[in-house]
Amino acid sequence: MEFTDLLGLAESHQAWIVDIRRRLHQMPELKYREIQTKRLVLETLSGLGISEPLELAETGVVATIGNGNGACIALRADMDALPIQETADIDFRSRVPGVMHACGHDCHTAMLLGAAKILKSIEDRIDGTVKLLFQPAEEGGAGGDRMVREGALANPRVDRIFGLHVWPTLPTGMIAGRAETLLAATGSFRLVVRGLGGHAAFPHLAHDPIIAMSHIIAALQSVVARETDPLHPTVVSVTAVQGGSAYNVIPGEVVAIGTIRSLQTAELPRIRESIRRIAEGIASGLRCEAILDQHPGDADYPATVNTPRCWETARAVAAEFIPEDRIREMSPVMGGEDFAFYLEQVEGCFVALGTRNDAIGANHFVHTPMFKVDENAFPLGTAMHVGFALRSLRELATV
Ligand SMILES: [Zn+2]
Ligand SMILES: [Zn+2]
Repeated sequence: MEFTDLLGLAESHQAWIVDIRRRLHQMPELKYREIQTKRLVLETLSGLGISEPLELAETGVVATIGNGNGACIALRADMDALPIQETADIDFRSRVPGVMHACGHDCHTAMLLGAAKILKSIEDRIDGTVKLLFQPAEEGGAGGDRMVREGALANPRVDRIFGLHVWPTLPTGMIAGRAETLLAATGSFRLVVRGLGGHAAFPHLAHDPIIAMSHIIAALQSVVARETDPLHPTVVSVTAVQGGSAYNVIPGEVVAIGTIRSLQTAELPRIRESIRRIAEGIASGLRCEAILDQHPGDADYPATVNTPRCWETARAVAAEFIPEDRIREMSPVMGGEDFAFYLEQVEGCFVALGTRNDAIGANHFVHTPMFKVDENAFPLGTAMHVGFALRSLRELATV
């Protein structure tokens, strides 16, 4: 089958894919609670004649297509939503208060189901195995790690994996990616500064944790500015500070949370140790105590490192569908992805799918209440998935 036919085939399924996507969009579910999402995935797979999918990782699903010979290629979609109240300019907004598909995982799941539909329809011509991974909890829950640990890459053993992410800064109809490191290793922290509360008019009788935390937050900027090689991109961001409740009371405790990022996975422990040393040193100098932990429920993710030859495969697949000038080599970005856990086990590639369209207001960033994607990007994303699998099976068969 020619790849040019695949895009046409994907376009012919566009209404079906959009329908699934909009149903998912209206019933977003947070990490490890993707119950209805999983049900919809299982029902859809069953309707396509894809039997006995494996259920794992609480709400994850692995479906298999092919004849079991030769190589095995995995395609992955994530399924979870975010705790955000949607305000997007669409008529199929989230029906769940405070929960929204603000990272496009509804699109990923729908496009992978579209790929399942196409792959199943040409199954008799597939010499090998294609595994479809529908994973939970990408947003902080390390669902990818859980899928790996529960055997998603085994029986049959996966040789190569691909995934894609909707990309709100890249115009619809474009594909971007790179060899080697694409996304950062990410970690979280929670810093508690304890002092001694008291009457605000008698500061000398208190040990003020607000003053200590203020100095600590200012000093944490030097973890990047003074302690990190300028050639190693690194981020330390404090994203919330909570403490105190009255204008005339010095609180006993202040809590800050935040994120750390590096393009090198091995850097995360060093960054965290620097934060601890600075926080403890400043806190003790100001008669307080600092306690540093990971933010509960938010796991560290390794850097997402694409296998160079798999990015070449992805480029070749894209070139079958779109002109070369719509395929872009991109710089690494400091966002993170738990697709990284799969890439620690097998070769593969994670790719950006353009979904920006200024004419319809699809240009808000992921993780924001106005986030919106251009659904016209779906046929290309679906065809890319199918192409990843078919081209990889051909490449690995001739090795
Ligand atoms: Zn996200
Ligand atoms: Zn995402």
